[in-house]
Amino acid sequence: MPPVTVTTVGADQQRSLWRVTAPLAPATAPLEQTADADVVIIGAGYTGLSCAIALAEARHSVVVLEAHEIGHGASGRNGGQVIPGLKHDPDDLVARYGRERGEALVRLSGGAADRVFALIAKYSIDCAARQCGWIQPAHSAAAARMIVSRARQWAARRAPVELLAGEGLAHLLGTSAYRAGWLDRRAGSVQPLGYVRGLAGVALKLGARIHTRSAVTRIVRRGGEWTAATTRGEVRARQVVLATDAYSGALWPELATNQLIVTSVQTATEPLPDAIRSTILPGGNVASDTRKLLYYFRLDADGRFVIGGRGAVTDDVSPGVYATLRRAATTMYPVLAGVPWPYRWYGRVGITRDWLPHLAELAPGVWTVLGYCGRGVAMATTMGLVLGDMLSGGHRLFYPAAALKPIPLYRLRRPVLQAGIAYYRLLDALARAA
Ligand SMILES: Cc1cc2nc3c(=O)[nH]c(=O)nc-3n(C[C@H](O)[C@H](O)[C@H](O)COP(=O)(O)OP(=O)(O)OC[C@H]3O[C@@H](n4cnc5c(N)ncnc54)[C@H](O)[C@@H]3O)c2cc1C
Repeated sequence: MPPVTVTTVGADQQRSLWRVTAPLAPATAPLEQTADADVVIIGAGYTGLSCAIALAEARHSVVVLEAHEIGHGASGRNGGQVIPGLKHDPDDLVARYGRERGEALVRLSGGAADRVFALIAKYSIDCAARQCGWIQPAHSAAAARMIVSRARQWAARRAPVELLAGEGLAHLLGTSAYRAGWLDRRAGSVQPLGYVRGLAGVALKLGARIHTRSAVTRIVRRGGEWTAATTRGEVRARQVVLATDAYSGALWPELATNQLIVTSVQTATEPLPDAIRSTILPGGNVASDTRKLLYYFRLDADGRFVIGGRGAVTDDVSPGVYATLRRAATTMYPVLAGVPWPYRWYGRVGITRDWLPHLAELAPGVWTVLGYCGRGVAMATTMGLVLGDMLSGGHRLFYPAAALKPIPLYRLRRPVLQAGIAYYRLLDALARAA
C-alpha cells in the first residue's frame, strides 16, 4: 500500500465558527493495542458514526478509527443545512431506476432530514437543531422554471413544500435579490460540529469504541478477517467500512479517484444586533441558491450570519475567496456592510460523476459509501444508517450498491476543475443577466 497522507488543521480551520461554539467532544484516545470487533469503521464523520450507531443498536461490536478528531472532515466544517433529497429530482430517480426502486430512493432521500431530527430527538443531541425549512431561491429565469417542476414533484409525493415569489419570498429571505424560490419544510439546521460530536457520544454510550488520532495506514486480509493497522495498534474485524469520503487520501486509492474534490469556503459575522438579525431569514430558514457555484447562507443559534460558496480546487484558499463571499453577502443584505467577519474556514466536498452517493463493496467484507455532492448532512447520516442496517442483517433500508468507477482522466482533474469553475462562474453570471 502507498503511504497515507492525512490532513492537518490549518490556520483557517482554527477560526471556524463551529469550533468556537460547539459543545465539547466526548473524551477519546488513540488506539494503542490490538482489538477485535465485528466491524471496524474508518472515519468519524456522519457516515462512520451513524453506521456505528446502527450497528451498536443491533448489538454488533464496533471500533471507529479516526485520523484526527471527531468531525475533522466535512462533518465538522459544513454549513449545517439539513436538506432532504439528492441532487437529482424525484422523477429523474424514477426514470433512472424504474418506478419501484426509484420511488424507494425518493422515500429514502426524501426522509433523510426527518431521520436526522429524529436521531437528535431520540438521543437528546445538543446541536442547536431546528427543523424550520430550507429555501432554494432561483438565480435566473431558467432556474425559476426548474424549481417549479422540482416543488411539484415533491408535492405530488405529499412533501410539505411550497413555491414562493414576490413579497412573500423577499420577506422570508430578508432580501429581494431573488424573484422566485421554493420552501421545503422537511429541512432545517444544526450546529454541524455539535451534531457530529453528539453522534460520537451516542455511539460511545451504545458500546462502540472510538479512537481518535489513529490514522489507519494499512488494511490487510489475514485468513477470514481484515486488519486495520495504525502506527500503534490494530483492529481485527470481519467487516471494514471506509467512511473517509473527500478526506480519503491514499489508504484505498480507488476511493480518491471515484470523485472530484472541490473546496467549499465559509465566513461568518459576530452575533448581529437584534434590529438587523430580525430582518434576515426571520422564519429561521436556511437557504442555498440554484447557481452552479451556489451560495448557501443562514443565521446560527446566536444570530451570526454565515455564508458559504464553492471556493477552490485545493485546500490553499486565498483571502480573495472570503472577500468574494462577503461581497455576495452585502449585495444581498446591504445592512451587513461594515460588519466584522471574524470567522473563516473551509472543507472538502466530493462530487461523483453521476451526482449520486456511491455505496460499494470494494473487496469481500470491505464497504464504502461516499460522494454526497454537497448534500451530506442528511444523506451521510442516512447512508451510514443504511450500511449499518445492511451489515447487521436488518435490510430495512434500501440503496443500490454498485462497483466504483474512476473519473476518466483523473490525473488531469485540477486544471479541468479550474476551467470548469471559471466556466460555471460565467454561466451563472450569464443566466442572471438573461
Ligand atoms: C464547507 C462545506 C459545507 C458543506 N455544507 C453542507 C450543508 O450545508 N448541507 C449538507 O447537506 N452538506 C454539506 N456539506 C457536505 C457534508 O458536510 C458532507 O457530505 C458530509 O459531512 C460527509 O460526511 P462523511 O462522514 O462521509 O465524511 P467526513 O465528515 O469528511 O469524514 C471523513 C473522516 O475520515 C477521516 N479519515 C480519512 N482518512 C483516514 C484514515 N486513513 N484513518 C482514519 N481516519 C481517516 C477524516 O479525518 C475524516 O474525519 C458541506 C461540506 C463542506 C466541506
